[in-house]
Amino acid sequence: MKITKVELLKGRVNLENPFKISFGSSDGSDEVLVKIYDDDGNVGIGEASPTMKIVGETQGTVLEVSSIIGSMLIGQDLDYPVSILDLIDRSILGNSTAKAAFDIALHDLLGKERNIPVSGLLGKYRDRIETDVTIGIMSTDKAVERARKLVDSGIRTIKLKVGGDIESDVKRVGAIRESVGSKIRLFVDANQSWSPKRAISSIRKLERFDIDFVEQPTPAADLDGLAFVRKNSSVPIMADESVHSTSDVLRIVKLGAADMVNIKLMKCGGIHEAVKIATICEAEGLPNMVGCMLEGAIGIAAGIHFALSAKNVVFVDLDSDRDVKNTLTSGKILPFEGCYRKDDGYPGLGNFNLSDKEVELVKSITVNETYKSL
Ligand code: MG
Repeated sequence: MKITKVELLKGRVNLENPFKISFGSSDGSDEVLVKIYDDDGNVGIGEASPTMKIVGETQGTVLEVSSIIGSMLIGQDLDYPVSILDLIDRSILGNSTAKAAFDIALHDLLGKERNIPVSGLLGKYRDRIETDVTIGIMSTDKAVERARKLVDSGIRTIKLKVGGDIESDVKRVGAIRESVGSKIRLFVDANQSWSPKRAISSIRKLERFDIDFVEQPTPAADLDGLAFVRKNSSVPIMADESVHSTSDVLRIVKLGAADMVNIKLMKCGGIHEAVKIATICEAEGLPNMVGCMLEGAIGIAAGIHFALSAKNVVFVDLDSDRDVKNTLTSGKILPFEGCYRKDDGYPGLGNFNLSDKEVELVKSITVNETYKSL
């Protein structure tokens, strides 16, 4: 079967409450949706959730790049999906979020063509995954109230954003630990906000609260600094913004810069690269987390299918579609069941449709233009 049409659409996911991390605050995310059609009437849908300070992409750049990639895919033979994924990867340097939308749409389409969920397509490892839920930077009182509500709803793992004033971070994390008790797991994510020395002193103040790991304490590009922190930290260190690709993982391994790696489809270009990163990490003894940006339900569904298939994924942080006003789909898909998420048994990513009220068609591509420029 061949690809006959690509459609690019846009929409905005709006959060119920602003989400604040160390380098900014957000009340929603401007997304791009990609629909890939084949000549047998199947349609695959993917989502791009660009975070400009992490991947250097916006809704505008994703649409521009998607126009190029979409054109290249017209006429491609779906019997050779890895060849198509390679074409997407080589189409343009970087632009991982735009590539992720196509990778996700292609996996959805292949699942629908072959009548199997994406998790099955990837080789399923488990039936369900337990996810944490993240609490952004906010006052101690509000954070404790939110943590209590989460635990009441069945959540057993909470990720806490830190990186503001360290004394208020320590107060907040300590108050949450006291409130939720010792059975709830706590993760901490500093989103690059500390220098290496400050990271070590901050972690020493937080370690008594029984934290599983500290995520990305130092700036993304400073792998030597990250390695220095890891060697001097009693709490395991997870790399997030420092890892966008397999080559990033190899550099982390060479420097001994992290104990764990957070894989996000929007950072690495989709499921195809995520599988490769997880394989290298498994061989090197680095457990993975699957995380998210501010995706709606489609991007999160792709992360769930990947996590269900990857043995090396031991932590899951797929919650961005939880506290939102809309998901760009007609209803929430693959909803939370307490702290668990699983696929719904439907082919592809699941049984869902785009919400016509929430998305707008930007471009329909049916002709393969040859891009001759380098
Ligand atoms: Mg992170």
